[in-house]
Amino acid sequence: MTDEKYPYLYETHCHTCWCSGCGVSTPYEMAGAYYEAGYAGMVFTDHFLLGNTAVPRDWPWDRKVKRYYEPYLAAKEWAKGRDFDVLFGIEHNYGHGKEVLTYGIDLEFLLRNPDIHLLPLSEYSRLVHEWGGFLSMAHPFRDRDYIDMSVGPEPQYLDALEVYNYHNYPEENRQAAELARETGLPGTSGGDVHIYTDGGINNSGIALPRRARTGDELVEILRSRDYRIVYDGRLIDCNFS
Ligand SMILES: [Zn+2]
Ligand SMILES: [Zn+2]
Repeated sequence: MTDEKYPYLYETHCHTCWCSGCGVSTPYEMAGAYYEAGYAGMVFTDHFLLGNTAVPRDWPWDRKVKRYYEPYLAAKEWAKGRDFDVLFGIEHNYGHGKEVLTYGIDLEFLLRNPDIHLLPLSEYSRLVHEWGGFLSMAHPFRDRDYIDMSVGPEPQYLDALEVYNYHNYPEENRQAAELARETGLPGTSGGDVHIYTDGGINNSGIALPRRARTGDELVEILRSRDYRIVYDGRLIDCNFS
């Protein structure tokens, strides 16, 4: 699922049972599955505090956000000595069931911004960007019971759109690609994987021209728009316009 110019495949959207209420597998099982499948790395993006979190909401802020960092730290430790990059992210719910995948942030960012999950998307976006982070809207047109479909995407606050989500219906993905075409935002592709046996592994992700060893390196490549995405079993350009 890569080519000569874009040899490094990364998962952009993955959950664990440590922090996501719907997550089934541990960070070790997830990292192992992607590593075995030939991925160069992955980003953990557990549901944040307004979403389907497995982190108790009544814990103090520091304890909660430290818990969000644990899957990343554990898998990173596991990956030592293996040629595999483990990166930190979150899937932040900003209300109405709408979610943004957030890259290029770290524990320090979360510690410094107590209750950031309660901010409107405009404010959240400003803080993430001040930190050097990157936002891709998760499954922008997913139509499910828990999502308020009357609230549309707000592309002015985003850097990208998840134009391919392995667990979306084709029509939902098609609409996301259409919005990418209209807005000029690049696309990302994610498995939205919650269990290590999921078919999203090997059928989603982004192919990079070089390694992304840190969140900053990942953001740099995403911003350059010089990468490919796995879309319906094919590798295509991230740019739709
Ligand atoms: Zn989930
Ligand atoms: Zn997800």
